[in-house]
Amino acid sequence: MKFLALRSALIATANELNDSGINQGTSGNLSVRTESGFLITPSGMKYSSLKPEHVVFMNLSGEHSSSCKPSSEWRFHRDIYVARTDAGAIVHTHSVYATALACLNRHIPAFHYMVAAAGGRNIRCAPYATYGTQDLSDFAIAALVGRKACLLSHHGVISLGDGLSPALALAAEVETLAKQYLAALSVAEPELLSDTEMDLVIEKFKAYGANAQQ
Ligand code: 13P
Ligand code: ZN
Repeated sequence: MKFLALRSALIATANELNDSGINQGTSGNLSVRTESGFLITPSGMKYSSLKPEHVVFMNLSGEHSSSCKPSSEWRFHRDIYVARTDAGAIVHTHSVYATALACLNRHIPAFHYMVAAAGGRNIRCAPYATYGTQDLSDFAIAALVGRKACLLSHHGVISLGDGLSPALALAAEVETLAKQYLAALSVAEPELLSDTEMDLVIEKFKAYGANAQQ
């Protein structure tokens, strides 16, 4: 079978996502880039029951020849791979705290320096559109400009990375930030870090994590 190792890695990451409690049930979806397209989780299947043959290969025109239907969100996965050469993998979740913020149509501002982990001074919330639609994809692409993560209004979160591990780690980070932000908001509106400070952190993050790459 083509891409067997990558199919298995995608399934392992999907199970890790749900085992960690970030996501649950058949909500969410994941994909990973190949040289000629991407592999994506099938629609509506429990991750724990996934076998390599259930994973769907799609080309960048959104065509596939698998017996399983691809995730209903294949459009935004496809559009992100086309628009973003830095995307090697994409994770979409309905993680509880980030989704709670998205249901309030709130973005995550610079209340904590770790917001810079998503690449910018805030983590935007894309406007609402029905799941699986081209509108949702268009809104997500706009919210992701200069960022590796965004919220989706009344829906969830998208994160991307150069591989499955960083995309999964960022999904977890966004959830932690959302939890921290909501905890702070329950007492008062937190003061925000300045643009200058956030730009400094964004710059420092370019060198952060070098030890992990050795
Ligand atoms: P799929 O099971 O089709 O991937 O849908 C889950 C989801 O999160 C839709 O936004
Ligand atoms: Zn979803």
